[in-house]
Amino acid sequence: MLYKRSSALFKAAEHVIPGGVNSPVRAFKAVGGTPIFAKSAKGAYVYDEDGNRYIDYINSWGPMVLGHAFDPVVDAVIAKAKQGTSFGMPTEIETKIAELAVSMVPNIDKIRFVNSGTEACMSAVRLARGYTKKDKIIKFAGCYHGHSDAFLIQAGSGAVTFGSPNSPGVTQGTAKDTLLARYNDIDSVNELIEANVGEIACIILEPVAGNMGCIPPKPDFLIDLRRLCDAHSILLIFDEVMTGFRLAKGGAQELYRVNADIVCFGKVIGGGLPVGAFAARAEIMNFLAPLGPVYQAGTLSGNPLAMAAGLAMLTELNSDENVFMRLAEKTEFLHKGCSEALNKYDVVHTINRVGSMISIHFAKNEVIDFESSAKGDNATFKAFFHGMLNEGIYIAPSAFETWFISDALSYKDLEDTISAVEKVAATL
Ligand SMILES: *Cc1c(COP(=O)(O)O)cnc(C)c1O
Repeated sequence: MLYKRSSALFKAAEHVIPGGVNSPVRAFKAVGGTPIFAKSAKGAYVYDEDGNRYIDYINSWGPMVLGHAFDPVVDAVIAKAKQGTSFGMPTEIETKIAELAVSMVPNIDKIRFVNSGTEACMSAVRLARGYTKKDKIIKFAGCYHGHSDAFLIQAGSGAVTFGSPNSPGVTQGTAKDTLLARYNDIDSVNELIEANVGEIACIILEPVAGNMGCIPPKPDFLIDLRRLCDAHSILLIFDEVMTGFRLAKGGAQELYRVNADIVCFGKVIGGGLPVGAFAARAEIMNFLAPLGPVYQAGTLSGNPLAMAAGLAMLTELNSDENVFMRLAEKTEFLHKGCSEALNKYDVVHTINRVGSMISIHFAKNEVIDFESSAKGDNATFKAFFHGMLNEGIYIAPSAFETWFISDALSYKDLEDTISAVEKVAATL
């Protein structure tokens, strides 16, 4: 494939944007080569500036669960834009999407909208600290909760890809309040709680990890966390920025039948516009300003275009009874096909999958936490990535990322993808 225009655009971008990108994982640093500049997208396909077409497994890193430029979302945004793009006053549509989200997700009474997943997680932790009057938080190595200071401690995909699990600029003071546990290891959590009795405000995690490749929770992990939180008056925060409105209507809470105290959203909830949200029972949410003492605000929060996109997206997901099953079936089909293709050429791999999240780890053993994910063979991943790209299949340019399946993918697209995997596997 030719990337002439992408290369030229990247050169121009590098002069005026650090690294040529506005979010590091887009830069292809982990895999080498020049990032591809997107021009347009529709359904399962994205088209670059050189006119190449790709079957897309990034889907804007998750939001496009129904495919690109999904008509009801596009139409809703266009119609809204004509009425004005921002007011700084409350609008009816904010209540409409809030009502719908609250009806779809278990165990939440109220929700507040922000502009990104980062903001959602940052605000959720502040709320948990304000509510419990405690300072420390527990997070898991390899889980990503956005780029706010408290989370940039062993923060998974982006941060790990760039070799800076702990970012300069995060103060010692902030870092000392973030305690680090091992994913799927309840003992590591217990030890931290015992060593910090009465000091832990919350435990935050991705209920299905997606930022160290896809890693499902072990059968009792979430239940055990719930029990520990109850026993020690700690709030359990599910960061469902990736899993929310993707794994089920009610996200991982519904899928695993475990209630979180605060739930964070992003990605799908905005239908491709910049939206995040956090939600909880009323007694917790009422701690937020203007009702309560915990401050949180945003000039563009609840923006009408963003709410229109999100509402159209959630409305579709809520009314289609089979969408999550269909997504899971497509992902299972892909899983089987990829396994067979890789096995045919004895490529060492482990595939993890939950619902419409899947990743191929080029690792021999089961991948259950950051350590086992990091053991994957990065040279193989690089070769695989470029091989797939050359076949017109766009997967994330990092071994620590999940593939996001969209409902726009046809079985023909999946078969083409599996054929590409087979072709590339022969070269690995
Ligand atoms: C993407 C992501 C975030 C951050 O969301 P942004 O909108 O990029 O700020 C937080 N948590 C998880 C689990 C994510 O996947």
